[in-house]
Amino acid sequence: MEDEVFLEQVIVYGIVFLLCAIVIFFYTRKKRVKSEDVEKKVHIAKEEGLFEPVSLYPHIDLKSCIGSAACVADCPEKDILGIVDGVATVINTANCIGHGACFHACPVEAISLRIGTETRGVDLPHVNQNFETNTKGIYIAGELGGMGLIKNSVEQGQQAIDSIVKSKKPSKPNVIDVLIVGAGPAGISATLAAKKHGLTSVTLEQDSLGGTVYTFPRSKIVMTAPMDLPLYGKAKLYDTSKDELLQLWKKVITEHDIKITENTKVEQIIPIENDTFKVITLMGDEYICNHILLAIGRRGTPRKLNVPGEESTKVAYRLLEPERIKNKKVLVVGGGDSAIETVLLLKDENEAILSYRKDKFSRLKPKNKEKIEQAINDKSVKVIYNSNLVSIHDDHVMITINENDQPEKLDNDLVYIFAGGELPTGFLQKSGVNITKRFGYVMKRHD
Ligand SMILES: Cc1cc2nc3c(=O)[nH]c(=O)nc-3n(C[C@H](O)[C@H](O)[C@H](O)COP(=O)(O)OP(=O)(O)OC[C@H]3O[C@@H](n4cnc5c(N)ncnc54)[C@H](O)[C@@H]3O)c2cc1C
Repeated sequence: MEDEVFLEQVIVYGIVFLLCAIVIFFYTRKKRVKSEDVEKKVHIAKEEGLFEPVSLYPHIDLKSCIGSAACVADCPEKDILGIVDGVATVINTANCIGHGACFHACPVEAISLRIGTETRGVDLPHVNQNFETNTKGIYIAGELGGMGLIKNSVEQGQQAIDSIVKSKKPSKPNVIDVLIVGAGPAGISATLAAKKHGLTSVTLEQDSLGGTVYTFPRSKIVMTAPMDLPLYGKAKLYDTSKDELLQLWKKVITEHDIKITENTKVEQIIPIENDTFKVITLMGDEYICNHILLAIGRRGTPRKLNVPGEESTKVAYRLLEPERIKNKKVLVVGGGDSAIETVLLLKDENEAILSYRKDKFSRLKPKNKEKIEQAINDKSVKVIYNSNLVSIHDDHVMITINENDQPEKLDNDLVYIFAGGELPTGFLQKSGVNITKRFGYVMKRHD
């Protein structure tokens, strides 16, 4: 009898043990499969050059991380974070736009928001808590200071103007109180705040009103949070669109009779007598001002080729709405990922030619490499290697193929140039703003 009870107990414990083992087996297998999936994504991100951060990104303290995955769940972007073997890891870090949702979601404070890594520094300008740089009278707001996102930039734009007002530098006759460089979220908000405070101001934008937001695809969901917009009040926006944001900004600007000058690049800032500055634009216009607010973001300026005809309206340095471009003869210039992605987006509905100055592509993302090779093979894209654009005309362009040859004529409707970009670092240094390379620098709000 006792033996029977013992046997029964052994069987029951055995079954329980087996069930537990099965559950644990499937649980760990599922976790391993998920980990392997994330590891694969990290591998691809490294190959595609997306693993290294370019701006603000989450840094995970592996000793504190408990693998709750709250950061993964709260990140509004895709595949920025994942879990490998029970701890969080970054994946496509270069795509992180610094929402900071992961930082707030982590239950054990294992995430800090950083700029630069231990091996790769990021240039950050010196700005104090009043947004003023080491050059008295020059202020910085928005992503240029390191803290991205639309809401932060809007807040910083008006806070910087508040600081300018508080600085009590007296207004001077025939001198603009504040000249704002850049009309992204920070510059727009600063322009409205300047008007609200009764300052005289001029806002110069090298491109289009909206800054980086203007370049978003029309279909993108823009994630933001309610924010105070000067002269408007609380803008209760959460998931919105580029158009809704641009319309809101334009409405407030028009209602208050404010002018923002687009297509005007600021080239030089020179401190002059009386504690004022002379600001010179690319076209040679000059402004004298008491304060300067740099709201120029961190994305830089597309590099120009400086060829005759480049100022034509048929020339662009980015592709905004590929779906609207049909039945055109398009020339894309460049051999990097942006040029390749552009020509691939245009090839199906247009006659697409890619002109590249070298004899082969190098350092392309593997997917782009594969797709362009396929497009060359099926003749949907014509690539002209060793070629240089010489001049741009209404209905054609001239290019040289091989350096010493005579230029050839190509019929053409549109030109897209991707010749890299100049980062704002040089411009800042020229303007007397100190910059330090930051390696894994922990950012705090308004740092
Ligand atoms: C793909 C992508 C998706 C994003 N999605 C979101 C999102 O969903 N939600 C969110 O909150 N944020 C998002 N962001 C981040 C957000 O766009 C930026 O943080 C924000 O635009 C920064 O605002 P800013 O005013 O500081 O700079 P910017 O918007 O970059 O504006 C700077 C302006 O200065 C101009 N400028 C530069 N140099 C000069 C010069 N010398 N003279 C005159 N003008 C000059 C530039 O042309 C530009 O218009 C995203 C960013 C990217 C790249």
